[in-house]
Amino acid sequence: MSGAPANRGHREAGCSSYTVLVMSCIFCKIVEGAIPSATVYKDDQSYAFADIHPQAPVHVLIAPREHIGSLAEAVESHRPLLGHLLWVAAEIARAKELGKGYRVVVNNGSDGGQTVDHLHLHLLGGRSMHWPPG
Ligand code: AMP
Ligand code: ZN
Repeated sequence: MSGAPANRGHREAGCSSYTVLVMSCIFCKIVEGAIPSATVYKDDQSYAFADIHPQAPVHVLIAPREHIGSLAEAVESHRPLLGHLLWVAAEIARAKELGKGYRVVVNNGSDGGQTVDHLHLHLLGGRSMHWPPG
């Protein structure tokens, strides 16, 4: 693994404000293991853990290891990673035997209800979901 910044292609490499963002990001700390979490799945690109305030019997958060503030902040070079995160959600759903169905949610921005500014997917399952969401 090279020492190149993980945000290559995302923002200007070496941007100190980016470093500050990462250092203050709770999900970056969870991904690094600096803040404890209940691990559900991990690989070289992603980390999945139990939501601390579960909204369903299964409520897993799937985050990229790289700090991306939101879906809106993803850039072209993130396309494979975005697909990978969805694949991980489906793999976890299979492992948790959510054969009756489940929901994958990405909250984006304040109107979207995003409260943690590190891109993540919510995998919700184990109960019947409602539509439209609140
Ligand atoms: P969102 O509102 O889409 O940004 O989702 C953020 C989610 O992160 C919420 O469902 C929170 O319950 C969850 N959350 C916040 N802090 C933690 C934490 N330390 N461990 C696990 N989940 C967390
Ligand atoms: Zn982060």
